[in-house]
Amino acid sequence: MSASAITLETLDEIESIALTGVTTTAAIESLGLKRDSFYYALQRLNVDRKRFDRVEIFKRRLEPYLDALTNTTMTARAVAAELNCSYAYLIKILKQLGVKLNKGAAVSLTKAQHLASKYSVIHQYILTKGGTVPDALRAVGLPTHLQKPCRKYLRSIDFPYDEYRYAFREYGHWTILPCIAKQSAHKGYDLLVKARCNLCGTTYEEVSFNNLQTGASTCCKSCGHGRKVEYEVRCLEDGRTWTSIHDWIRCIDTEDYSEQKLRRQVRSEGGAVVDDYHYVATETKRYRSAQREPALAEVS
Ligand SMILES: [Zn+2]
Repeated sequence: MSASAITLETLDEIESIALTGVTTTAAIESLGLKRDSFYYALQRLNVDRKRFDRVEIFKRRLEPYLDALTNTTMTARAVAAELNCSYAYLIKILKQLGVKLNKGAAVSLTKAQHLASKYSVIHQYILTKGGTVPDALRAVGLPTHLQKPCRKYLRSIDFPYDEYRYAFREYGHWTILPCIAKQSAHKGYDLLVKARCNLCGTTYEEVSFNNLQTGASTCCKSCGHGRKVEYEVRCLEDGRTWTSIHDWIRCIDTEDYSEQKLRRQVRSEGGAVVDDYHYVATETKRYRSAQREPALAEVS
């Protein structure tokens, strides 16, 4: 490119290259231009050469970090590392800019702190939203090739990120809690996860992940069991028995009682008193799946 071919656009290009941190000379040469042609073009196009001054370029690169420096979310050493300059040079320029550092900012950043400043956002993300490390990187706009250093950081703060792979996913009334999913002994393809039934607030250690995903289970068996458990009701006074709450309600005189309330009472308290007769209810039948896998969420 000849000197006369240098346009304002060329200058913009040189400037944007210089802003990545290389010297203006290197930027000029990277476009196959000569320094003399460049300075000649500046005159011809009436452009202030100060725009390409090393210090001016550096000040503009520094601008995005000024907030972080003054509120001490980043230390001067961390910024110097980001800008690939010496700490002393950064301090000198900050002085020129009249930027006063807060006390904490002058403290040097250890490597661990540097990692923390970069990846604590990932820690927070996984801690509150769950998911894998790549999920979190993507969600906060970081490239997924950073998963290795990110995992290293998470391990360094003893954060068990593996346990959050399915955490906080919601299925029906279930919320999966942080846990290591276990292989089901009954169904090899199935995983058992720790989950909370939001209807009663109970946490179950082993809930079938398959049942959650397919919607086969929407809450714990206690919450869904009204339809699943049958009762035998017996009268303590005369020994009469009924094979279901339904039959019992039909037999007794419930005029003065709320049927709904009686049903609830025998289920929750195991019995009721009606007209001075004591009735005791015992569970007679559970669905087979509930017996085989007691902690497992039942279809409901
Ligand atoms: Zn429940």
